[in-house]
Amino acid sequence: MAQTIDGTAIAAAVRADVAEGAAAFRAQHGRAPALRVVLVGDHPASQSYVRAKARAAGEAGIDAETLARPADLSQADLLALIAGLNADDAVDGILVQLPLADAVDEGAVIRAIDPAKDVDGFHPENVGRLVLGEPTLEPCTPAGIVEMLRRSGVETAGAHAVVLGRSNIVGKPMASLLLRRGIDATVTVCHSRTRDLAEITRQADVLIAAIGRAEFVTADMVRPGATVIDVGINRVEDATRERGYRLVGDVDFQAVSEVAGAITPVPGGVGPMTIAMLLQNTLEAARRRAR
Ligand code: NAP
Repeated sequence: MAQTIDGTAIAAAVRADVAEGAAAFRAQHGRAPALRVVLVGDHPASQSYVRAKARAAGEAGIDAETLARPADLSQADLLALIAGLNADDAVDGILVQLPLADAVDEGAVIRAIDPAKDVDGFHPENVGRLVLGEPTLEPCTPAGIVEMLRRSGVETAGAHAVVLGRSNIVGKPMASLLLRRGIDATVTVCHSRTRDLAEITRQADVLIAAIGRAEFVTADMVRPGATVIDVGINRVEDATRERGYRLVGDVDFQAVSEVAGAITPVPGGVGPMTIAMLLQNTLEAARRRAR
């Protein structure tokens, strides 16, 4: 039976470290690290993510404020809002909650954020630094996975890490991080056009699933003893739940637990780590800007 990697507990440890750092920052600079979260529209999942981020930031002693704007906010007005936050010296981190409306050019919005305040790590300048192996604000989900592997004592050096998914938010930055010196994994990235997927996933010492397909990874796709990290958050209908659905990952947790050496649950795995790393990035951005 696999060991369950408790993302909630590891995230709590990261958040405690951030709280200590934020208190020290405040003592030194007379103000807390400051995060501004921009939420456009009333997408329910986005609202709940933003609430969770703001609450966690407040608990860690970060001055967090959510700037909620109506769904029909124009791109020009959104860019003007970002320009104002860029210019505000008392703001350290800016996060624009994605996805944005189809009418808005997401790339243009991301590029408008000052890279020094880009706590999501999505700006092309920060992505470039990541690929070059330079210090940067790292995208929160893959950074959280690395932190979780490190704090659970999972050996990555020389290990074969297989990443399922090539999105800009998870798959690609995950691969770049795993290749970094000090992490030193051998990395394979798979996607919807990959041939013989199960044959590749069975070679993984560390398997990271980020595809957005409920319980896609089955026990026969996993090498006995492998570490399985489940990034997926999928809603599946469930009449026994009050809200009519439950959340499951991209991994069939029950069956894969019988084979894997270690596995992250959904919820309570990668999700809390993503939020913890956002707080860490905000503190890091504040420290760098103060230097
Ligand atoms: P995405 O942008 O939709 O990308 C999905 C990737 O999976 C794509 O590269 C796609 O391949 C690949 N894929 C889809 N079906 C596949 C299949 N049958 N076989 C192999 N590859 C397949 O998704 P994302 O933003 O990376 O998110 C992935 C999942 O993680 C979602 O469930 C999302 O909700 C969740 N997520 C969780 C967190 C967290 O904090 N826990 C953070 C971000 C995302 P192609 O490129 O070929 O289309």
